[in-house]
Amino acid sequence: MNQCEKIWSDILDKLSGLVSVACYEIYFSKLKPVVIKDDTLILMTELTSVKNGIAKNFTAPLNMAIRESMAQIDGVKIILKSELSSYVEEEEKKEEKEEFHPSIKQIVFQKNYTFDNFVIGDSNKYAAAAARAVAEAPGKNLNPLFIYGMPGLGKTHILHAIGNEILRNNPSLKVYYTTAENFTNDLIYSIRNSNNNELMKQFREKYRNLDVLMMDDVQFLAKTNSAQENLFHIFNDLYTAEKQIILSSDRPVKELTYIEDRLTSRFASGVVADIQPPSFETRVAILQKKAYHYKIDVSQEVINYLAEKEKYNVRLLEGMLKTIGYFASLNNRAADSVEFAKEALRDSSSGQESAITMQKIAETTCEYFNIKVADICGKKKTKELVEPRQMAMYLVTVLLPEIPLASIGQFFGGRDHTTVIHARDKMQSQIGENENYKKKAEDIKNLIYNK
Ligand code: ADP
Ligand code: MG
Repeated sequence: MNQCEKIWSDILDKLSGLVSVACYEIYFSKLKPVVIKDDTLILMTELTSVKNGIAKNFTAPLNMAIRESMAQIDGVKIILKSELSSYVEEEEKKEEKEEFHPSIKQIVFQKNYTFDNFVIGDSNKYAAAAARAVAEAPGKNLNPLFIYGMPGLGKTHILHAIGNEILRNNPSLKVYYTTAENFTNDLIYSIRNSNNNELMKQFREKYRNLDVLMMDDVQFLAKTNSAQENLFHIFNDLYTAEKQIILSSDRPVKELTYIEDRLTSRFASGVVADIQPPSFETRVAILQKKAYHYKIDVSQEVINYLAEKEKYNVRLLEGMLKTIGYFASLNNRAADSVEFAKEALRDSSSGQESAITMQKIAETTCEYFNIKVADICGKKKTKELVEPRQMAMYLVTVLLPEIPLASIGQFFGGRDHTTVIHARDKMQSQIGENENYKKKAEDIKNLIYNK
């Protein structure tokens, strides 16, 4: 699956919970993802009726699905098959320029994840400065660079900004971005399919030839020997050759307990920079910048309201802003009052008449697992309770993105917001990896929608 297909399949996944089965089949299931262009995912259909039908009736659920899937795109555009050629030609040109080892797929750095678009405050100024220094002189002084912070605080944004900047200064450098998860998958694939170790050789080769290696979310590096062993050797080769290594993690090095000491000690051997949750002023500045970027007409009052509402996660802040902007454009007005913002956020969380609440999500999840609400809101950490609790927390973050994590933690037994983050991320990755979890989440969501 390439990047477009992956993004579209995530969006489809969300859509399936938002539109009827019949509409899903008729309008969405047969769209083909073609390419991402200017942060817009281009989808193709052969039928004018599908293109027009979606534009007329389904923009709301489609936008909601895009937001829920957290896809890093601004939107989608549906084109007819007859319009395809102009897009395909551009893609082919791009591929011709590929100078990497054939098995290395360069991602296109998000063009709006730049340093200019990154708002700096006390919470992230050290990380941003280190990132800039690395982008200006990769492999020179700050090697490796290890950035850590909770989800949604801009780590991926910074990595892309470094990539954009390095390639702008020196387009011939081989800059490779991957996630620890992809690295692991790539490795497993090479091991499984290796004939006479050929693929394995290629695997090492492709990493060792890089000028810059960025590995996002190293907390997802597999515990297996092979993943850690290979990364260790790649790390050493690149480091000795004075090639830049940049790592991100959602936790500090010392908490990466399942990663071998010889690796973690190397992770921490250069510059370690953390990103903290932004202050109120920084949250306001970020919202202003995003509103400008997405051309959302929103008043200062509403911006302040949002900045008060979510104190940690910039991704969620951005999600709320986009939702409000979307409702404003639907109603052909500016998002100029807190009442309007509240209404937009309330509506977006259900998409139906009966509002979805945290209580309802907890109740439905408990019904599904056949346990008591009091239990998942209690202190016990038995196996039977942990999974439903994490599932419920995860569903709240997905279905009610405007609820602050701290409030979710509070509701589920006075837990800390970091517990909610952990639950959400864990469930998210389990759903990604395991059909069984995916099905559970879908079933519960359907129960919630149909209540
Ligand atoms: P992480 O990788 O740490 O989970 P991301 O880099 O994906 O977080 O950031 C989530 C969203 O928040 C992105 O859209 C990003 O542009 C935005 N964001 C985070 N911090 C900032 C900031 N300081 N300035 C502007 N946008 C930010
Ligand atoms: Mg990230």
